[in-house]
Amino acid sequence: MTDRYAVIGNPIAHSKSPAIHAAFAHQTEQDMDYGRILGDPDDFAGDVRAFVAAGGRGLNVTVPFKERAWELLDDLSDRARAARAVNTLMVSDGGILHGDNTDGIGLIRDLAENQGFSFPGRSVLLVGAGGAARGVLVPLLETGVAALTIANRTADKAHALADAMRAMGPVSGCGLNQLWDQRFDLIINATSSGLHGASPSLPSHCLAERGWVYDMYYADTPTPFCRWGQERGARRVLDGLGMLVEQAAESFLLWRGLRPDTVPVIKALREGQL
Ligand code: NDP
Repeated sequence: MTDRYAVIGNPIAHSKSPAIHAAFAHQTEQDMDYGRILGDPDDFAGDVRAFVAAGGRGLNVTVPFKERAWELLDDLSDRARAARAVNTLMVSDGGILHGDNTDGIGLIRDLAENQGFSFPGRSVLLVGAGGAARGVLVPLLETGVAALTIANRTADKAHALADAMRAMGPVSGCGLNQLWDQRFDLIINATSSGLHGASPSLPSHCLAERGWVYDMYYADTPTPFCRWGQERGARRVLDGLGMLVEQAAESFLLWRGLRPDTVPVIKALREGQL
C-alpha cells in the first residue's frame, strides 16, 4: 500500500514540499504519496488526529503550527526539544507520534555546503522569534559564530529566546528597533513577513560591508527581504529554497531511511521544472 505523507500549514497552497518529496520518491524508487493540508488554526490537533486515523505516516509542519506541534507530541528528538518547535512528525506502527526538527540542519547545509558561507567567528543577526527561528538557533550556535543576535518585532520574545539559549553560546536578544550600531556578516530573515509581501524593517547600517543576506522565505521572484539585501549591496543574497530542499531531505531520511540527492532537485526548482 502507498504510504501517505503531507505538509500541514496555513496558508499552504504555495508550498513546494509536495513537488520536492515527489522528486525524492522518484529518485529513490519509494512508493509514497505526499499532499498538502490546510490546517485549521483553531484545531491543529484535530487535523493531525484525522490524518493519522486515515493511515498517514508522517507530516511536515509549517507556519504557524511548529510550536503547537511541539506542545502536542510526547516523544521528541533532542533537537526538537531544544528548539521547542517541530517541523517533522513521524507516526510509528503503534500509532505513536514522534517529533523532530530538521530546519536547522537544512539552513546550515544550504549556507555552508551549498553556498560556501564560513560561520566560525562571524556575527549573525537572526530576525524573528517564531518556530523557524527556534529551529535554527542551536545549530547556528554550534557552528562557532562569534555572536548571534535575535531581533524580533515583539522584543520580549527575542529576550526570552536568548535567555533560554544563553548556556549554548554567545546569544543576545533585542527588538527590531533596538539595533543601534551593530553590524552583521550574515542577516537571516526568519519572520513570516514575506508571506504578506513585506520585509521586516531593519536599519540599513546593520549589514556589514560584503555581508550576506539570507531569507528563509522563498518565492518565484526576489522576495521583499532579498530585494532589501540587493538594494544595500549585500555580497550574496539567497532565498530559502535551498534550505527547504535540505530540510526536506532530512525529513525524508527520517521517514524512509534514505538520503536523496538534493542538488538536482534544487536545480530543477530554480529552473522552474518542478
Ligand atoms: P511563526 O508564525 O512561528 O513566526 C512568525 C515570526 O515572524 C514572528 O517572530 C513574528 O514576530 C514575525 N513577523 C511576522 N510578520 C512580521 C513583520 N511584518 N515584521 C516583522 N516581523 C514579523 O512562523 P515561522 O517561524 O514558522 O516561519 C517564519 C518564516 O520562515 C516563514 O516565512 C516560513 O515560510 C519560513 N520558513 C522557511 C523554511 C525553509 O525551509 N525555507 C523552513 C521554515 C520556515 P512577532 O513575534 O512580533 O509576531
